[in-house]
Amino acid sequence: MNDIQKRYEAVQERMRAAAERAKRPYSSITLIAVTKRWPVELVQVARDAGMFHIGENRAEELAEKRAALAADTTIVWHFIGALQSRKAAIVADHADTFHALDRMKIARRLSKRLEENGRAANNRRLPIFLEVNISGEASKAGFAADRWRDDATQREALRKVVEETAVLPGLHLQGLMTMAPFGAPETEIRDIFRRTRQLSDWLQAEFPALTLDQLSMGMTDDFEIAIEEGATHIRVGRALFGERLT
Ligand SMILES: *Cc1c(COP(=O)(O)O)cnc(C)c1O
Repeated sequence: MNDIQKRYEAVQERMRAAAERAKRPYSSITLIAVTKRWPVELVQVARDAGMFHIGENRAEELAEKRAALAADTTIVWHFIGALQSRKAAIVADHADTFHALDRMKIARRLSKRLEENGRAANNRRLPIFLEVNISGEASKAGFAADRWRDDATQREALRKVVEETAVLPGLHLQGLMTMAPFGAPETEIRDIFRRTRQLSDWLQAEFPALTLDQLSMGMTDDFEIAIEEGATHIRVGRALFGERLT
């Protein structure tokens, strides 16, 4: 077993233990192996070890790696980072799932391109997650959701985002994504994930015709807490591949 296989085994073991604590099936959790900044050879190693879900956060890097591994159609490419609107077309052409929708402008650009490139027409709408800013940190991306319980204006804004996104022909809205504050105490991180889950439940109740049951949350330092709080997609880099050099 190589080093990456060993790390993968260890992460899976931790995922299993967290799922068990939460009384959730292990199969309800998708591990996204975040290969950003690593060369394409590492993606190949990860894939050979059994990691089929690959995460990238720069549009050009995603396009390059996907092209280099085009022969391997088993890889599912997740775009997990902030997206600038001028790069929306690259993601629309190369991503299989988009985790960080944080502006309606991006949603419209993605959808338009997906209609142009034929994916929408072929009923291959791009699965997306709305990124929500639950902590209220100014530095965090995402639709404002720090006071959604108490603030009717914020709730209405979130409702509207869901409503408008759900009707875009190129996109398939499937849930929420969030990031916990870096280095925060466990209780705070858990609270952020729990409030994201509750917001997701509220939106689901508001939109019974949609299926908003996916939650993208949890990274190397907090994926076990995220699983305990209901994450269906965790995005893990360092625990699998070590520290990134850049
Ligand atoms: C880099 C990144 C991750 C993975 O972070 P690690 O700490 O390496 O696990 C997850 N999500 C997003 C959005 C990222 O940019």
